[in-house]
Amino acid sequence: MAIEYNWKCTVCGAANVAGTAKCSQCGSSAIISPIEISLGRTGGDRPRLSTSERFTLFAWTGIFGVGAFLEAMSIPPKAIWFIGMGLMVLCFVVLLTVGAVWKRK
Ligand SMILES: [Zn+2]
Repeated sequence: MAIEYNWKCTVCGAANVAGTAKCSQCGSSAIISPIEISLGRTGGDRPRLSTSERFTLFAWTGIFGVGAFLEAMSIPPKAIWFIGMGLMVLCFVVLLTVGAVWKRK
């Protein structure tokens, strides 16, 4: 998508003229997401998350939310509090583990 005005590249900072869609210096698109900006700044060597990886993150974040919800409710019996705490700790461990594994790829 071409930009109708002179713009500055968000990745390398180069100035670009109106009507261009890609940076003349580094080739980045004029309109990119923050994730792409950070990838561009770190060399872009990190692979994008696959659909299953996104789903895994989404699912575990949801489970963490359930745990946090149970914590916040702290309704009797007390066991619910421990279940909530257990879910949150479990999710924390799982997300740290998958993060470490994916980084190594
Ligand atoms: Zn650029």
